[in-house]
Amino acid sequence: MTFQDARGAERMQDAILRHLGYTIGKDASHATLHDWRLALSYAVRDRIVDSWFASTRAAYEAGAKRVYYLSMEFLIGRLLGDALVNLRADAEAKAAIEGLGLSFDAVLHDEPDAALGNGGLGRLAACFLESLSTLACPAMGYGIRYEHGLFRQSFEQGRQVEDPETWLQQRHAWEFERPETLYRIGFGGHVTEGDDGRMVWTPSEAVLAEAYDTPVVGWQAGWTNTLRLWGARAVDPLDLHRFNHGDYVGAAAPEMLARSISRVLYPDDTTEAGKELRLKQEYFFTAASLHDILRRFDSEHSDITALPDKVAIQLNDTHPAIAGPELLRLLHDERGLPFEQALDIARRVLNYTNHTLLPEALEKWPVDLMSRLLPRHMMLIERIDADHAAAYPARETHAVSDGHVNMGALSFIMANRVNGVSALHTGLMKQTVFEDLHALHPNRIVNQTNGVTPRRWLHACNPRLSSIITGAIGEGWVGDLDQLAGFEAHLGDAGLLDAVAAAKRANKVALSNWVSETHGVSLDPDAMFDVQIKRIHEYKRQHLNILEAVALWQAIRANPEAGWTPRVKIFGGKAAPGYVFAKKIIHLINDVAAVLNADPVTSPFLKVVFLPNYNVTLAERLIPASDLSEQISTAGKEASGTGNMKFALNGALTVGTLDGANVEIRDHVGPENFFLFGMTAEEVMARRAIPDHAAQAIAADPRLAAALDAIHDGAFSTGEPDRFHDITGNLRGPDYFLVCSDFTDYWRAQREVDAAYRDTADWTRRAALNTARSGWFSSDRTIRGYMADIWGASPVARPG
Ligand SMILES: *Cc1c(COP(=O)(O)O)cnc(C)c1O
Repeated sequence: MTFQDARGAERMQDAILRHLGYTIGKDASHATLHDWRLALSYAVRDRIVDSWFASTRAAYEAGAKRVYYLSMEFLIGRLLGDALVNLRADAEAKAAIEGLGLSFDAVLHDEPDAALGNGGLGRLAACFLESLSTLACPAMGYGIRYEHGLFRQSFEQGRQVEDPETWLQQRHAWEFERPETLYRIGFGGHVTEGDDGRMVWTPSEAVLAEAYDTPVVGWQAGWTNTLRLWGARAVDPLDLHRFNHGDYVGAAAPEMLARSISRVLYPDDTTEAGKELRLKQEYFFTAASLHDILRRFDSEHSDITALPDKVAIQLNDTHPAIAGPELLRLLHDERGLPFEQALDIARRVLNYTNHTLLPEALEKWPVDLMSRLLPRHMMLIERIDADHAAAYPARETHAVSDGHVNMGALSFIMANRVNGVSALHTGLMKQTVFEDLHALHPNRIVNQTNGVTPRRWLHACNPRLSSIITGAIGEGWVGDLDQLAGFEAHLGDAGLLDAVAAAKRANKVALSNWVSETHGVSLDPDAMFDVQIKRIHEYKRQHLNILEAVALWQAIRANPEAGWTPRVKIFGGKAAPGYVFAKKIIHLINDVAAVLNADPVTSPFLKVVFLPNYNVTLAERLIPASDLSEQISTAGKEASGTGNMKFALNGALTVGTLDGANVEIRDHVGPENFFLFGMTAEEVMARRAIPDHAAQAIAADPRLAAALDAIHDGAFSTGEPDRFHDITGNLRGPDYFLVCSDFTDYWRAQREVDAAYRDTADWTRRAALNTARSGWFSSDRTIRGYMADIWGASPVARPG
C-alpha cells in the first residue's frame, strides 16, 4: 500500500465510524456485518454527492440539453463495488474494512442485488446510465421503485419456485427520498370541453408519485447523473371516517391500492397477468417523469417551443409509449398550444428503442381498457392516428386497429428517431414490423448496437484480467475501451498469455469453490466451463443446449475411452412465472443434471449445473470464469444480446448463431475465433415453410433421435415417463424455434470446440484475442452514437 492509500484508508475508516455512530446509531462493539456495510456505503455515498452537486451545477450553468431515459426496468444489481471502483477508492476501502477486522468480500456480498428488471433490456438501461455519467452527458434515468423486484428463484425437486424479492427490507443506502417532489397522477374519469374550447380531463381516482433519487457516478467520479425512481402512495393515506368506525383494514385500503402500483415488477412474456395494473404502472411512471421534465425545463427556460432544443427523451421499448399522448396533452390541453404545434414539439423530443420483433412481446392495449383508464389519451391517440393516416394515405399504417392500440406503431409515429439494437435487428425491423412505417419515413429508423459498461463488466468483475491488461497497455482502456485494441500487440508474449491463462484458472477455482460451498456440487476447474445464462425462453434455446448434453452423455457412455474433452455445462436463468414451457425446460435441465452428475462413467467428462436465481451478481461471478459462451438463439429472434458481449470481453469464445449482435462480435473478434453454427435468419424463414422440418431433421440424425427418445422414454424422469412429453412433442412437431433443424450443426460446432480446447495455449491466445478485439462493445460507444445520431446532445465540461 502506498502512503496515499494508507492516508486514504485512515480517512475512510473515520468516515465509516462516523456513519456507524451518527447515521446508523450503533456502537462498533455491537455492529453487525450489515451495519458495517451500510456505514461504508454512506461513507462512499458522501463522496459521490460532491461530484453529483458539481455535475448538476455544471449542467445548469452550461444550459445543456438534457437526456431523459425512460425505462420500466433498471437492472442495477449491487452498487457498492461499482461505486468504489469508479471513485478509485476500492483499495483504501478494502484496507479500511480489513483494518476494522472485517472481511471486505463479506461486506461487499452483504448488499442485496437490486433486481428491478427482467434481463437484457433492464441491464442495458443500467449500463447506459453509467456510460452517460462517464461521458459527462447531463442525463436522468426514470423508472419505478418496485418494492419487490423480479422474483427470487429456487428449485424444489427440479422445479422453479418463485418468492418475492425483498431487497427493500433493508435500508437502501444509495437513495435519497424526496418527499417534496410529488406529482398527482390520475386515472379514469371523463373528459369535458371547457369554455375556452380546451378539453379537460377529470380523473376519477388519483395516486401520488414520490421521487427517490440514486446518484450514478461515472468513471473516476468525473460526472454523476441521477436515477429517479417513482414510488406510489395514496393521496389520502388513511380513511379516517372508516378508521373511527372500527374498520381498520378498510381505512388503510386506499393506501394499499395506491401502493400496489409500485409493488411488483411484472415479468415480461406474461400477457394476461394484471393487465390493468401493468398499464397503470406504465402511465404512472411516464406521467410523473414528464411532469418532472417540464418542471425542470420551466425552471430554466421560459419559451416552451424551445423544448426540443433542451430536452431529448428516450423510450426504452414501448412501456413508456404513453409519453406521446401525455406530452401532447400537457402541451395542448394544459398549456394551450395549438394541436399541430404541440404534436410537432412532442415528436421532436421523443425517441423510441425497439427491443424485439417477437409478435407476442409487442405491446397492444385493448381500446376499451385504454378508454376507461385514460380517456383523454385514447382520444388523442385516435386523433394522432387519423392525422397520420390522412397525411400518408399510400400505406395502411394504423396504430389503432382491431380494437387495440399498437404501442409500437404509436411510438414510431410519435418519435423523432426509432432505433434497433444491432445491425441485423435494425435491418429486420425495416423488413418486418415497421415495413410500412419505414417506407413512409425512410430516415427515422437508425441502428445503435448495444454495449456494456467495461467498468462493471471487466474492470470490476474480473480484477485479475484487468490488471494484466493494465500492466500491458496502461489503465486508459477503462475509460476508453477502444484502447483495448492495443492489447493485441502483446499477445505474442508467451509470459503474458500464461498470465491470462492463470487468471482464467484462478477465476474458475474461485467459482468452483463457491459452487461447492453454496450448492454442494464439485467442479473440476480444468474442465471447460461452458455457460448459458439468460432468461429462459424457447427462442434462446436452452433446450438445444440440454439436448446436446444428452446426446454427448450417450456418446460418452457408448465409448468412454474416446478421449473426451472434460466439460461442465452451467446454466442460469429465470422463467416468467406464467410461461409453462420455459419452466418445463428448467425442470428438464435439472433432471438431466441429476442423472449425468451421478453417472460414474461419464461425469468425469460431462457435468451439468443449474445455478438458481440468476441475477447481476451471479453474472459477475460466472462470466470471468467462463471458457465458452452459449449464444444459440434461433437466428432473427435475439434483437442484440448483451450477455454475448460480456463474455467476449472476458475472454470466452462464443458458440453461436448469426443472430443479434453475435454477427458483429464475430466480425470484430474474427471468424476464426468464433464457433459459428446454424441457419441464418433468411434460412430460418425458408426452413419454417417446410411442413415436416423437424421430422426430417430427426430422421437424418440418429444422435438427435436417440436423445429425444431418451427424454421421451423417461430416462431423466423415472416414475413419471411423460413428464417431458410437452417438450419432445413440441420438438418432434411444430418446433417453431427450429431446435431439431439446427441440432446437427450445433453438434458439429461443439466437437470443434472440444478439439480447440485441447490445444490449451492456442485456446488462450484466441480467448485473449476476443478480449482485445471487443472494445467496440463498450456502452460508451453506444451512448456516443445516441448522443450524435438521436439526441443531439453534447458532453459538458467536467467540473473541477
Ligand atoms: C447481461 C444480462 C442479461 C442479458 O443477457 P442476454 O444473454 O443478452 O439475454 C440478463 N440478465 C442479467 C443479470 C445480465 O447481467
